[in-house]
Amino acid sequence: MNKEVSFFNFSIQKILTKDQTILNQARIRLLYYGLWLAIIGVLALVVDLYLGHQYLLASTTTVLLVSLMMLFKYLTFRPRWTIISHILLVLATMLNLSNVFITLQTVDIITAQVVLLIIIFSFYMLGQVSGMFYSLMNLIPVLMFLVLEYDSSYVISIKPLVLDQSTVIIAVCANFILIIFMHSHFYTAFIKSMVQLKATAEERGELNVELEKVIEKAEKSAQAKSEFLSIMSHEIRTPLNAVIGMGNLLMMGNPRPDQKDNLEILKFSANNLLALVNDVLDFNKIEAGKVVFENIKFNIPDLLQNVCGGQMLKAQEKELDFKVSIDPVLRDKIVIGDPTRLTQIIFNLVSNAIKFTNTGTVWVRVKCVEDRHNIVGVNFSVKDTGIGIEKQNLEAIFEPFIQESITTTRQYGGTGLGLAIVKRLLELQGLQMTVVSEPGKGSEFSFSMEFPVSTEHVIIHEEKPDKPIGVSDGMGSLRVLIAEDNMVNVMLMKKLLSKWGVTPTVAENGERAIEMVQYGNFDIILMDLQMPILNGFDAATEIRKMRDPKKANIPIIALTASALFDIKERVFSSGMNDYVSKPFKPEELREKMLSLVATIS
Ligand code: ADP
Repeated sequence: MNKEVSFFNFSIQKILTKDQTILNQARIRLLYYGLWLAIIGVLALVVDLYLGHQYLLASTTTVLLVSLMMLFKYLTFRPRWTIISHILLVLATMLNLSNVFITLQTVDIITAQVVLLIIIFSFYMLGQVSGMFYSLMNLIPVLMFLVLEYDSSYVISIKPLVLDQSTVIIAVCANFILIIFMHSHFYTAFIKSMVQLKATAEERGELNVELEKVIEKAEKSAQAKSEFLSIMSHEIRTPLNAVIGMGNLLMMGNPRPDQKDNLEILKFSANNLLALVNDVLDFNKIEAGKVVFENIKFNIPDLLQNVCGGQMLKAQEKELDFKVSIDPVLRDKIVIGDPTRLTQIIFNLVSNAIKFTNTGTVWVRVKCVEDRHNIVGVNFSVKDTGIGIEKQNLEAIFEPFIQESITTTRQYGGTGLGLAIVKRLLELQGLQMTVVSEPGKGSEFSFSMEFPVSTEHVIIHEEKPDKPIGVSDGMGSLRVLIAEDNMVNVMLMKKLLSKWGVTPTVAENGERAIEMVQYGNFDIILMDLQMPILNGFDAATEIRKMRDPKKANIPIIALTASALFDIKERVFSSGMNDYVSKPFKPEELREKMLSLVATIS
């Protein structure tokens, strides 16, 4: 940045600024002092020439003097050292060549000094290319002159023929001083530059170390936060499991109508709390970059039926028209993707549409927009006639913990995490959500996804005859081992199983469970995963290694309090047959138990 300097400035300090590099400052200084010296030298020369009555040379030297003064003024007004250097070099070249070829018609020591000065000055001031140019522009003609004059004199005379003794001494001295000055000046600047570079490198090194420390600290704190959230949500889910389980038990015990209402509220609130804990856990996982998308086979219409089935009841409760239309092309296609995450996305959109619509319709439309040889492009859209969203809030609602307004929070509840999760899940797959909404009229959320298509086709499942459930279906005769360390959970499981006529045996950790399987006879194991001494995964692995094939193949259902999806993989790889997420629905557990016992025995 150039400082604004007055036209009458003559001080060097005013034309030096902090943002000029050390080398550029040195160039400006060199011009400043060099011009001073040159002006004094040329002035002395002019006076000397006049006194020696050499008027022609004196007048050309005067022109040079005035030019130097003008350049000095320009420099102290605007320190444009590149332009000034070029002007100086052009002047010097012209003067040198005119002296050699016209005025003096000889090459003497001053010519040699001038050529040397031009070479040094052009390289230092303007760099290699210009340096080479001005050097050759001066050297070649001088050399040519020498070659042409070869016969008469090849000796460069110390004493020039025209000038007198004192002029020569002044000129030679001034030139030598200039040469020394240039070298010493640039040497100092180079050294200064090196020192500054070293200091900058050291400073940068120190800064890097500090930066690394800060990054490490931030990473540690992010990890601690994520671990804290995981632990907390597990700790919250365990008692919540007991609350929901107890609620279910009480519901199964034929409560009075007023008790039933209270139990409904209890169940609703506990489920909401659970959804919240799951959302926080999930968002935390996404933010930590720990989401891995699965590539498994599934059928899109089946998935939608599952998602919308549950939501339909909610829509009916609000007396909303709930319409689901699925492109028939997709009916018999098995696609490959992550059904869990897709379910999560559509579930969030549909439950929002129902939540924010008081009258009218909610549509779920799934359209096949592209059907290539082995890829389908599918557009999912969830539309409602609800409260709508103001245009300026259309981006903000995708931020975590942001809801459209305080009124929304008060009236509809929620945390503002749903859409943030949806958006990030889509972004991680390189996709985007489109929203069209008008306040008071409704909203439409849509996105498109591509799926590879499997060569298989949908197998129409044979409907298994519904087994009678309860004591009569043989459940009562099952010998069940529960491996669980939490006393509340044990109590809950015992109560639940007793409703089906089952009296379970309890092992309080994984090691006890192995012992019990070794010495006892069981039809099925319900295995908690987090237990002291030996956890559920290791216990299952050990059981699968037992010599007795009946014991090694005993059905094991994992009871997991973790909502994390990677648990699923670990459950299957440790040899367990299935899992239920706590708090589980009694129906779900019973069905899984019955079907496993039926298939394995
Ligand atoms: P939550 O539903 O827990 O509030 P979301 O992240 O799912 O959180 O949604 C954020 C906000 O976006 C909601 O609070 C609401 O203001 C707005 N919103 C989302 N879906 C709709 C919809 N279908 N109609 C109107 N507003 C919506």
